[in-house]
Amino acid sequence: MLTRLGLVTAVACLAACPALAEQYLVHTQAEYSEIARQVEAGDEIILANGEWRDFDLVITGMGREDAPIVLKAQEPGQVILTGLSSLRLGGEYVTVSGLVFRDGFSPRGEVVSFRVSKHNQASHSRVTQVVIDGFSKPDRYESDYWVGIYGHDNWLDRNFLANKTNKGVTLAVRLDTEESRENDHRIEYNYFGPRAVLGSNGGETLRIGTSHYSMFNSNTVVAYNVFDRTGGEVEIISSKSGGNVFRGNVFRAARGTLTLRHGDNNVVEGNVFLGEGADYTGGIRVINRGQTVRGNYMEGLRGEAFSSALAIMNGVPNSPVNRYVEVEGARIENNTIVDSRRVAFNVGADEERSAAPSSSTFKNNVLSGLEGESFLEVYGDISGIAMAGNQVGKGGVAAALAELNPSLPELVRGENGLLYPADPELSGVGAPRDLRVIGLDEVGPGWYPKPGAATEFGSSGKVIEVEAGQGALAQAVMAAEPGDVLKLAAGEYMVERTLPLTTTLSIIGAGADETVVMFARPSLVELREGGNLRLAGLTIDGARAPDSVGNSVIRTGVYPIQSNLRVELDEIAVRNLDVNKSFSVLTLGKSTLADRVSIKNSAFQNISGTIVSAAAETEDYGQYNVEYLDISNNAFANVGGPIASIYRGGRDESTFGPNVTITGNALTNVGLAPTNGTGGSVNLHGVQIAAIEGNAVSGSAPFRVVHTVGTPKTRIADNTFAATGEFILEELVFDGEHRAVLSGNEFADGGDK
Ligand code: CA
Repeated sequence: MLTRLGLVTAVACLAACPALAEQYLVHTQAEYSEIARQVEAGDEIILANGEWRDFDLVITGMGREDAPIVLKAQEPGQVILTGLSSLRLGGEYVTVSGLVFRDGFSPRGEVVSFRVSKHNQASHSRVTQVVIDGFSKPDRYESDYWVGIYGHDNWLDRNFLANKTNKGVTLAVRLDTEESRENDHRIEYNYFGPRAVLGSNGGETLRIGTSHYSMFNSNTVVAYNVFDRTGGEVEIISSKSGGNVFRGNVFRAARGTLTLRHGDNNVVEGNVFLGEGADYTGGIRVINRGQTVRGNYMEGLRGEAFSSALAIMNGVPNSPVNRYVEVEGARIENNTIVDSRRVAFNVGADEERSAAPSSSTFKNNVLSGLEGESFLEVYGDISGIAMAGNQVGKGGVAAALAELNPSLPELVRGENGLLYPADPELSGVGAPRDLRVIGLDEVGPGWYPKPGAATEFGSSGKVIEVEAGQGALAQAVMAAEPGDVLKLAAGEYMVERTLPLTTTLSIIGAGADETVVMFARPSLVELREGGNLRLAGLTIDGARAPDSVGNSVIRTGVYPIQSNLRVELDEIAVRNLDVNKSFSVLTLGKSTLADRVSIKNSAFQNISGTIVSAAAETEDYGQYNVEYLDISNNAFANVGGPIASIYRGGRDESTFGPNVTITGNALTNVGLAPTNGTGGSVNLHGVQIAAIEGNAVSGSAPFRVVHTVGTPKTRIADNTFAATGEFILEELVFDGEHRAVLSGNEFADGGDK
């Protein structure tokens, strides 16, 4: 039923205006199509409250500045687009507001597109108070944009975009037609919410342009947005065009940096980066000509190298568009950087990137790092940067910056919560005193709640007692809610079916000697969407498992998992995984990424396969299966495969991980099975950061570490070896000796390293 509400506002209608403005309330997609065909300047189409499933929504027409065409929700937040839905805008002066996209994904290349087709791009149009929440394609490596901005003079404001789990930039500004350059788009007061580690390139939150069109100006303004935990990859924002302005944005615990990757004459001012001490949190990376970086504030950032609080890069002489144009004419002034790990000059200097910054200034900045750590680093010639008026505090200073004598005065917090020198004489140094820190309540639609912290193990506070007995454990797992704890009494638990896990669950026994879990299927637990598992205080015995291909106590299912997984094993015992030649403990399959796997204080005995297998992404696209792996203080005896097999292949440099810690373990007869194709008791391929320290190894296969791209950091130290071969170390890309740091390793048969 079509409801015609008729004229509701007195529109000042000029002679050119062919009809009076109308308001239409539509209830079905068929009604919508009929009305959308006849919509004119000043008309409003109102979508009725409720769910709109599989809606290929298109709005186009010639609105006017004083009479836009409006598409809106009957009540903001009450119109939910689900299933295979998308929105495309075309024409001029079109405004869309109040819609929610969730419980589905776009079948197209975008969820919201500012073009209907290549020949109908939107201009002077606005998308406001629209929510896109978890509307991700199911396969994490199938790419899309959530919002693609084309045309010119468009405005994206007060929207909510969070929880994108698949590959592809969250918001892309495209310059691939002439009309879409020098576009004057505005991106303001949006909430960019959590974006989990993607484990691949393509996890940027905002990209403006591409290297191909980077010689053009985009002139896009990105102002007063919040980027909250947007940690998909090394670039939060990738600016690949000229003339953009980034002003007043707030970055909270966001891994990566605002990167001026391509294009000249951009301005980055008055932004606030609060790292909250989270790993890899960075600030601004400067490349290209004529960049201005002033009045920004950074605190609690922990990134270094490319993700330093401030990284000023070396360039490539006569750089091709897709490489690194040298820094020339940069003005870096009045920034405050405190409690942050690194500020670095000439970053990336090597044979190719040999052009140092020139004609640049670095003035009146407040700079303070971490006590006892190197802070201001220089990797090349900085004579092209004029320095003056900088105030330096904690942290080590490179010899080339010796004139920046550390003498930072006392800092006090201003009314905005930020730190400033107390001395009024220094009022002209550091970020502006009136810098506004945009709050969460000022961005996104007010009616849609911002996400809180992720569910932790045990966070529901609910402990469910489970007695030994047929089917009891399976029933309890199926009924569990996020953050619950199942407490298993002493006794033997026989599990007859694989337990599918779709929530954050802890299963805690009465102690490894008291609670024994056996299982009759190839796996005990299958991790699925939303599944996170903690096991503690119990024994897992594989003696009753069948002889099946790919046995693994814990595994991921055959379908891709969008959410990132967490697995913790603490004070458990695992034994008798030896019914066949490849029985593993944890196997992470294709298109899955574990944020964290931690195995501590546990004992593993008589296992034919691998303890942690995270090696399913074998195509060498820079993808991998685990971000942080920590194996500490365990005993491994008679294990056929490696205790960790990690694979990240290819030459991409867009990820921080994998990050592996293996410390304080005892390995006896590990990795020597003929079925262990890796040849190592530890097998790390393409791991970015590895610490293998304080392990006691006897009668085992050697440690194997293969470096691929970038500057991997591997430290192998203070381990003891008996009847174990020397390290197998390879560099696949780097031309030179293996870069692993070896120290204090003792081999019983001599030849210490
Ligand atoms: Ca990237």
